[in-house]
Amino acid sequence: MAAILTTQTACSPFQNGAICLTFDDRNFNDWNNAIPLFEKYNAHATFFVCGVMDDKAVATMKRLQENGHSIGLHTIHHANAPESFMETGEDNYMKTQVIPQLFIARQAGLRVNHFAYPNNRRNEDTDRAMHQYFRYLRAGVPGGTKGKDLRKVDAMYCSLDDVRKNRVMGGAGIGSYYETDPEQLKGAILRAAQENKVITFFSHGISDNPNQISISIEWLELILKTAQEHGVKVIGFDELD
Ligand SMILES: [Zn+2]
Repeated sequence: MAAILTTQTACSPFQNGAICLTFDDRNFNDWNNAIPLFEKYNAHATFFVCGVMDDKAVATMKRLQENGHSIGLHTIHHANAPESFMETGEDNYMKTQVIPQLFIARQAGLRVNHFAYPNNRRNEDTDRAMHQYFRYLRAGVPGGTKGKDLRKVDAMYCSLDDVRKNRVMGGAGIGSYYETDPEQLKGAILRAAQENKVITFFSHGISDNPNQISISIEWLELILKTAQEHGVKVIGFDELD
């Protein structure tokens, strides 16, 4: 049977597009509390943890993974990769920012296959270095999306073949800082469905009273509901392959 599956589209896990929601930093309580809402819509996200991998971090990542979500790393000190590579070198960055997190995660039995760049800063050198350890890398949409109509930012909409080939995900920020408009969000999901494309978003916390770089529970439900209405899968990075 395997011999006839020669094209990647034969293995596509979806026909009406997919949304990859990603959440960064250390918003452990928010993420834990959002698990039932994701479950209600049979949806998964990817969570990227920065800082020391203490008990709270490990326990949260374990719980998210047990609930079908993907998890990834986001460095110890949230240091920009390209600048650090230039100033103190690739080896030093890996040894101080990445390996300590990876070591503890692996020791705890976590599958950490992905990485989110601090401040979305990346270049070809950092991608090459990170791809030695991680399957998918999350950065931002080239050129950013702040103040732009998400329905018209062509670079946001990627075919699954391109996603699997490049393995660098360009996320659009969601939150008041990014000037997110709910109507545009809905329109972006509809476009992904119509064109069978993958779109990626990033935010941080999920709460009733979100800060500027976080998302409200209401908006999260709006995304999950809109996706369900249009048959768009909401998946973690683990589910892209
Ligand atoms: Zn961050």
